[in-house]
Amino acid sequence: MRLFEAIIDANHRAIAGDANAGLHPADFEVSLPVVALTCIDPRLNPLFPNALALPDEQFIWLRNAGNIISGPLSSTMRSLALACAIKGGREIAIIGHTDCQVAKTPTMKLLEELQALGVERRRLPDNLAEFFGTFVSERPNVIKACEFVRQSPLIGPKIPVHGLMIDTGTGKLDWVVNGYENWSLPTRADTIDFAQSSGVAIGSPGSMGDFSYGEMKFPESRIGDTAFSLDPAKPPTPPPIAKPQPMPTLKPARATVPPPIRPPNARS
Ligand SMILES: [Zn+2]
Repeated sequence: MRLFEAIIDANHRAIAGDANAGLHPADFEVSLPVVALTCIDPRLNPLFPNALALPDEQFIWLRNAGNIISGPLSSTMRSLALACAIKGGREIAIIGHTDCQVAKTPTMKLLEELQALGVERRRLPDNLAEFFGTFVSERPNVIKACEFVRQSPLIGPKIPVHGLMIDTGTGKLDWVVNGYENWSLPTRADTIDFAQSSGVAIGSPGSMGDFSYGEMKFPESRIGDTAFSLDPAKPPTPPPIAKPQPMPTLKPARATVPPPIRPPNARS
């Protein structure tokens, strides 16, 4: 059984009430540590790394709002690459979660909240959803992120890239993308054109110099993103979603506490 197969097996056994469920990290030395990208949702704070039955030192935790990867050369992708190259990460997992507010916040609501914080509409890009990478469904977002990682020229083919979902109420993990199944498949990394993808060459002098309000370029935007106007002289374009969407219904917090599944001291 490979690492994440064992992780999910242990997780499901723990959820089912097996007090002895856990991992023996020594059995998976070649696959550890794990590099995980999750959302910033604070409900995840107590879930990791327990839900994976990993000790803290074998869990490299990256977070951003919505566990979004915006492109094969994005800032988050660079952190994933460095987590593997510098911190020795051996497998990558993109872990989405249920009830993600990034998925449930309509663009108009996001705009209202930004404006309530004093952010001026005219200083925002036209297409907020595209710019922030917001999404409407968690699982496709995980799949998309896995594809970006798998295609990235920054991540070598030796690193399995998994996609998972975690239930914020129970801590239960489920597969979205089994990274072992496409581990040996050729990637499209060699098709990525650095110049066209990001507009920057990594390591080149002034490689982030394209970030200029005057030139209206945002290097963190997705591949193929259109530039948008920040020119005060031009009238702001109204947000693309004309019809306000209903507010998401907030669910009451669940009382369920995920079972603590830690590496067992003794073999079960
Ligand atoms: Zn979230």
